[in-house]
Amino acid sequence: RGRVTHFDAEVLATRGSQAELRARHHMERRLRLAIANGGLRLHYQPLAEVASNRIVGAEALARWEDDELGPVSPNEFIKLAEETGLIIDLGRWALRTACREAATWPMFESTDGIRRRMKVTVNVSAVQLSQPSFVRDVADALAESGLLPRTLCLEITETAVIGDMHATAKNLQEIRDLGVTIALDDFGTGYSSLTMLRDLPADVVKIDKSFIDKIAEEASTDSVLARLVIETAHSLGMSVCAEGVETNEQAERLAGMGCDTLQGWLISKPRPGSEAFTEWLPSAVLPECLGPRP
Ligand code: C2E
Ligand code: MG
Ligand code: MG
Ligand code: MG
Repeated sequence: RGRVTHFDAEVLATRGSQAELRARHHMERRLRLAIANGGLRLHYQPLAEVASNRIVGAEALARWEDDELGPVSPNEFIKLAEETGLIIDLGRWALRTACREAATWPMFESTDGIRRRMKVTVNVSAVQLSQPSFVRDVADALAESGLLPRTLCLEITETAVIGDMHATAKNLQEIRDLGVTIALDDFGTGYSSLTMLRDLPADVVKIDKSFIDKIAEEASTDSVLARLVIETAHSLGMSVCAEGVETNEQAERLAGMGCDTLQGWLISKPRPGSEAFTEWLPSAVLPECLGPRP
């Protein structure tokens, strides 16, 4: 009897994984179609500058609502896209779309008194970064849209560079030479954060949400680490953006620590499209703790 149960379990496990495999292939087919037929959208989450109390740009976040599968979470379809190579086409689409849409965004007067266009940040996967054609893709997206290079920022994650640090660093340097800025996304969640700071040319560090959650707790380990990241980044001439800011207490703490930019539900959830973002701008209400400090 024990053997029968064991046998059943094995059969079930195999069937289970076959069903999973079929579902995965189905999702892959649907994603391929969505990329080819314009089934993906970009949502834009506003970025608030602490010193000026202003919205200075937004992060482009891919969204997919499939006719058959319904809404699929970005974590799920980005991972699938990375594993299947679809991320190359998806990433190129995101880059071109974000540049084209951001070229219509309004100008604002920055703290140095210069009028600039709002920045757009685009997530880039390791698979894209390792492509020899990637630098040209970025240059093409800029040329097509007419967007100034300094208006574009590329976000890369620590896991994105574990593969080939030298090739990645070289590509990133060429992209920076174009005038495009680089942000280290989800900073602190990998195991090589200090190596990243040392070896990768970057302009911005984005502190991961997992450090922000407990930042309002006085002397919590996370708040000590956040302060360390902010001070280290500043000593290296980089600026700092905090991700996933949800409460006024967190914003106050971060502003007090000298964090440059805030992103999170406290400022706004991602807006459902480029127009939704620009239409929201005039009514934006920013936390009181932002603005020039004494
Ligand atoms: P990410 O780049 O770290 O983006 C931040 C994520 O945190 C987004 O999740 C955003 O919606 C969410 N978020 C922002 N503020 C808050 C907050 O205050 N509270 C909470 N709980 N969450 C907040 P989302 O949109 O689900 O995207 C997940 C990840 O998928 C992104 O993480 C990024 O790594 C990836 N991704 C999204 N679009 C693209 C893309 O076009 N290309 C690539 N390669 N990756 C993408
Ligand atoms: Mg990001
Ligand atoms: Mg992030
Ligand atoms: Mg994150």
